[in-house]
Amino acid sequence: MDTMTVPAASSHIDPELFELCIQAFDSIPAADENHTVAAAVRSQGGKTFVALNVFHFTGGPCAELSVLGAAAAGGVLANDIETIVAVCRREGNAFRVVNPCGRCRQMLLDYNPDIKVIVLDAQGVELEARAKDLMLYAYIWEDGNAGAAGRVESGAKGPDGSQN
Ligand SMILES: [Zn+2]
Repeated sequence: MDTMTVPAASSHIDPELFELCIQAFDSIPAADENHTVAAAVRSQGGKTFVALNVFHFTGGPCAELSVLGAAAAGGVLANDIETIVAVCRREGNAFRVVNPCGRCRQMLLDYNPDIKVIVLDAQGVELEARAKDLMLYAYIWEDGNAGAAGRVESGAKGPDGSQN
């Protein structure tokens, strides 16, 4: 591995999880195109898990989905997960945080809206956001048919004062 291009782990919000992600690539050839993203989680109790994505054109799971499965196999369910981060490997063994796709944001919201997700802002700076902050206004529908993440009381009035 060319470590010259690996940023110092201490420069990341969560150095431990970032390092776990990098290590997950250690045995995978750099040219491999099926496993390009690692994700790591930490439970409320401090247990950590890591997994790689499984690319397939039919919709193979992202690393975020894989790691939730790995954590479950280790006895940690999503409601016990405190933090998640995904890291992609680019050419030259350059590693950087990658933001979750829409499907993963939905899954994280549904599994545990309070999971802290490490993401990059528009300037490429790492920050922590809650899963629910990555899916603003989810489950708030005009007809009041709200899901678990944001129930709208029946009889709520719409913005124009109309009753549902
Ligand atoms: Zn995804």
